[in-house]
Amino acid sequence: MPSNTVLLVEDERDIREMLTFSLERAGFVVATAETAEQALAMLEGPLPGLAIIDWMLPGLSGVQLARKLRQDALTRDLPLLMLTARGEEADKLKGFDAGFDDYMTKPFSPRELVARIKALLRRSGEPEDGVLEIGPLKLDTRGHHVVVGDDRVRIGPTEFRLLELLMRNPDRAFDRGQLLDRVWGRNVFVEERTVDVHVLRLRRALSPFGMDKTVQTVRGVGYRLAPQLAAG
Ligand code: CA
Repeated sequence: MPSNTVLLVEDERDIREMLTFSLERAGFVVATAETAEQALAMLEGPLPGLAIIDWMLPGLSGVQLARKLRQDALTRDLPLLMLTARGEEADKLKGFDAGFDDYMTKPFSPRELVARIKALLRRSGEPEDGVLEIGPLKLDTRGHHVVVGDDRVRIGPTEFRLLELLMRNPDRAFDRGQLLDRVWGRNVFVEERTVDVHVLRLRRALSPFGMDKTVQTVRGVGYRLAPQLAAG
């Protein structure tokens, strides 16, 4: 799932369709799941920017789903918004306790939901225009392109996701297993060596701009964004 996607987990078809319509009109890409189990399978790979989860779902409930997502290092920081038909204080507290960042009580206005989603994304560090910028490097998460100054970088889809992850986490080193989980997904079988191949391709793509040192090898760990870039 690309990072500009909102994942909507809702079993009621009418609400799902109404929300998909409103979110798409507000410029989001929407992925939908009818159950928590289906959502978990979809969250095994590259993550959406945010998930909207209905409390009352068949099978695992929305609250149980949130707990699971918070316990997993891969999805721990994913912004979560709860939809609930119950407006009682105790329920809200239970939702926050399970790890939801915000909630909306049905029935609600789609415009308010969109406003809350935007606020949540801002809080999670998502740039307003969807463009990540580090030094002269700009990565457009919505338009799916990378530029250095005015020049477009020719970059493959995997290298794009790799660079996006590193630019979103400029202070972090990732080991190969973490990169595989986040860039390729857990349900895909790839050897760790594949990571090195794509890091090499990414460096080659950036080398015409003198930026082949953007991705740094951390001995015994994996890779990170070059600290001098992250700082500047
Ligand atoms: Ca429901």
